[in-house]
Amino acid sequence: MSFPVEKVRADFPVLTREVNGLPLAYLDSAASAQKPAQVIDAEAEFYRHGYAAVHRGIHTLSAEATQRMENVRTQIGAFLNTRSPEELVFVRGTTEGINLVANSWGSDQVHAGENILISQMEHHANIVPWQMLCERVGAELRVIPLNDDGTLQLEQLDTLLDERTRLVAITQVSNVLGTENPVAEIIAKAHQVGAKVLVDGAQAVMHHQVDVQALDCDFYVFSGHKLYGPTGIGVLYVKDEILQAMPPWEGGGSMIATVSLSEGTTYARAPWRFEAGTPNTGGIIGLGAAIEYVSAIGLEAIAEYEQVLMQYALAELASVPDLKLYGPANRLGVIAFNLGKHHAYDVGSFLDNYGVAVRTGHHCAMPLMAFYQVPAMCRASLVMYNTMEEVDRLVAGLKRTHHLLG
Ligand code: PMP
Repeated sequence: MSFPVEKVRADFPVLTREVNGLPLAYLDSAASAQKPAQVIDAEAEFYRHGYAAVHRGIHTLSAEATQRMENVRTQIGAFLNTRSPEELVFVRGTTEGINLVANSWGSDQVHAGENILISQMEHHANIVPWQMLCERVGAELRVIPLNDDGTLQLEQLDTLLDERTRLVAITQVSNVLGTENPVAEIIAKAHQVGAKVLVDGAQAVMHHQVDVQALDCDFYVFSGHKLYGPTGIGVLYVKDEILQAMPPWEGGGSMIATVSLSEGTTYARAPWRFEAGTPNTGGIIGLGAAIEYVSAIGLEAIAEYEQVLMQYALAELASVPDLKLYGPANRLGVIAFNLGKHHAYDVGSFLDNYGVAVRTGHHCAMPLMAFYQVPAMCRASLVMYNTMEEVDRLVAGLKRTHHLLG
């Protein structure tokens, strides 16, 4: 059955926009995806007819909002195949989820002389919190190096991992190269030396099914806004026995059991112990709608269509003179490139003139830019609402840019 791309596109109001007098070709979904009407409407409907602060409210609207929020937690539990919805903490996004783990679990479990292992392709969100933690506790940050094609040098794992490794923090899919890392294999190896594993799923959950029990990861984190959901909401999964033992991070309302000025504070149980303050309930409801939306289309159908689109794009881009692509042949979601010696910003603004939206810059992956010895790259994202015609416009835009810039 062919993928109903036009039907999908019709659900995304912004895709009918024009930019510089041309139809928008939105190829920047890896930075943030557009939202279907189903997500926009679910959030608006909540604010129109159902809004109230959650937790402890005895009145009907508060009880309903609390129930809806907890229903989404259950829904995400099914989406990621957790053992229990109580293994899921609502956070602002991937960045906050990783910082939560670094500050709570990390401060408690990582000590001087121990080490944390990341890779050279990580997003800054999966580098900086670990640098800060290592500096604070006197631990060492180790890095899995890359091959030229943007895959990990996995053979280095045997020397990088040792009995002093407490954590491996690795992205499932690179936001620049599209490399899908063999996380299950890395997790199995890390567990052999007693290390825990955090998987950054920010660029993975929209492209294929994720099963945290099958992966056997200890932590998994993703952002709603890249999964066609609202901004400001994300999810952190932590294996139950680890989550229960983690000390609180942010203090405040909703995360306590009792507070006494003379006897101190006792905390709520997890996951609520990690959700201080009034949550982003509208965002949570929007995220629930986004997951319902992609699940109705089916992640398998999405993955199949996106692969066809990716193969088409790689084949067509091969005809652009002086185009340098970064990353492996097998990739998910993104194509990073540079055109001749031209700065990515120049190429990106030419493409914008043609209505083609790509990301330019270091993509929050400066160590990866250093590896390829470039200050910046352009990146085109391909997701379920993109079309071959949009790929053709990218290719034509690049050819014209090459012709004009020389
Ligand atoms: N990790 C990866 C791989 C990402 O692509 C991103 C977003 N570009 C992040 C982490 C950070 O996500 P957020 O900004 O939503 O917290």
